[in-house]
Amino acid sequence: MRPVMADAAVVTCINCGRKNRIARGAEGIPRCGVCHQALPWIVDADDTTIDAELRTTLPVLADFWAPWCAPCLAISAGVKKLADEYAGRLKVVKVNVDASPASARRYGAQSIPLLIIFRDGEEVSRRVGAIPAVPMRKWLGQFLSEQPA
Ligand SMILES: [Zn+2]
Repeated sequence: MRPVMADAAVVTCINCGRKNRIARGAEGIPRCGVCHQALPWIVDADDTTIDAELRTTLPVLADFWAPWCAPCLAISAGVKKLADEYAGRLKVVKVNVDASPASARRYGAQSIPLLIIFRDGEEVSRRVGAIPAVPMRKWLGQFLSEQPA
């Protein structure tokens, strides 16, 4: 049995249902240890981990949110669905702005929800405010590769 890594995200494989751990700042595309399907990749980041989480070869959707923000909670199911749908093509990084004041300042997250798409660590697009699932998917889709890598 492998040691439990505290510094890891736990995600459920959408293919076989097995829970997998993904190390923080993992490279490439995380795959299920059982069925080798690409895993939906959602991680929590804060001021100390955000740089490592944004540094990845996959496009990143960063979701700046707070527990008291009702519109943030309203779009979180849509964000989760996109992570499932685009497993192997997208990484979602959730940033709680209350717990990450430096990141909130750096990325200008005065208004939340704030969604930012990063490629190779660089911001390429942002949307402020609650976006319904369909426009969110369309907006994100422009920045993803055609095929699963
Ligand atoms: Zn699996």
